[in-house]
Amino acid sequence: MITDVDVAARLNAVKGTLPDGVKLVAVSKFHPAEYIQAAYDAGQRVFGESHEQELSKKHEMLPKDIEWHFIGHLQTNKVKYIAPYISMIDAVDSVKLLKEINKQAAKHGRIIDVLLELHIAAEATKYGFTLDACREMLESGEWRALDNVRICGLMMMASNVDDEVQIRSEFNVAANFFDEVKAKYFQDHDAFRERSWGMSGDYGIAVKCRSTMVRVGTAIFGDRVY
Ligand SMILES: *Cc1c(COP(=O)(O)O)cnc(C)c1O
Repeated sequence: MITDVDVAARLNAVKGTLPDGVKLVAVSKFHPAEYIQAAYDAGQRVFGESHEQELSKKHEMLPKDIEWHFIGHLQTNKVKYIAPYISMIDAVDSVKLLKEINKQAAKHGRIIDVLLELHIAAEATKYGFTLDACREMLESGEWRALDNVRICGLMMMASNVDDEVQIRSEFNVAANFFDEVKAKYFQDHDAFRERSWGMSGDYGIAVKCRSTMVRVGTAIFGDRVY
């Protein structure tokens, strides 16, 4: 266990390395509410969780001005539980999910911010659109009719490897793809501006590859106890 003091110090250490304009999502999944409160007391407001029940419990217990990001794979049947309060859904990986978010957001009179998750990493198990699937989805234009979701950018995870060259090349593929779709579909959408990549092990590389939003857990809260 690490103490509240450690959480605040580690949070500030991470923040100190981020260039201006790069947002920090403090990934608190599997960590106790006390850790989140400690980071909150140190000024952090944006937190990421990846399980609906855990998030809903924490949302209930913790200050209401926290901006919660859902960063994991979200099942469509879980959207309704988080739709009333979620600040951003970071990992939209299908049109079906996008439509369900739109439907649930409408029920609550909200517009929910989302990111489209790309699958670029070499690993077979990760979720997300391949670049071609993402192009196809955007080209179909169906998303334009979904008035209760706002597509704010792209999210991806690099391969879990030590090879910095590989990690950098995956981030650069994502950054170039951002430019491509921004120019083609989102030129007039100011909200489409986020490039969410970078976790504890690679956020330093990610910000050099034009990340605007890093998702950092372990470097702030320590190892997760599953
Ligand atoms: C858990 C998780 C993170 C944070 O990972 P750390 O290595 O602990 O920083 C970031 N993004 C996603 C999607 C995650 O699931």
